[in-house]
Amino acid sequence: MPTKDEWLDRWLRDAHAMEQQAEQVLQAQIQRLENYPQFRRRVEEHLTETERQRTLVEGCLSRRGTSPSSLKDAAGKLTAMVQGFTGVVAGDEVVKAALVSYAFEQFEAISYRILASAAEAAGDMETARICAEICREEEAMAAWLANHAPEVTHTFLERDMADREEAKR
Ligand code: MG
Ligand code: FE
Repeated sequence: MPTKDEWLDRWLRDAHAMEQQAEQVLQAQIQRLENYPQFRRRVEEHLTETERQRTLVEGCLSRRGTSPSSLKDAAGKLTAMVQGFTGVVAGDEVVKAALVSYAFEQFEAISYRILASAAEAAGDMETARICAEICREEEAMAAWLANHAPEVTHTFLERDMADREEAKR
């Protein structure tokens, strides 16, 4: 049976793999958001946060005397889901990006909430503090996406209608 510390190490490694996947997904999104400058800027900002989060998780692991594992299956599956979603229908990637990103940020937020409480239970207050801080960044990103989803949807629909009119001529 794993100890509290072993559970915490395991979940920190999962979080590290999650952040590596997040970096890839965000980088791919930035390429596709050229017509949505505000959305793109927020994703760029979150990519910077994500790189810092990965470094912070690495710091927690090394302070605890352990190291990140190679890419985890769970995170790989999540990326497959994200890519599957974004690839399905040509044209509405921006709407799918808002949809999938919101779900992903909530997934990250609850992961760090769980980690913070596991760290507290293991008596590792520094890790608990860091995970609570990262959790707030993920929640802020999810809230931004929720707040801006209507605007992104309207912009997408207007652009799509304009393209249709253009095609008729
Ligand atoms: Mg993150
Ligand atoms: Fe995030």
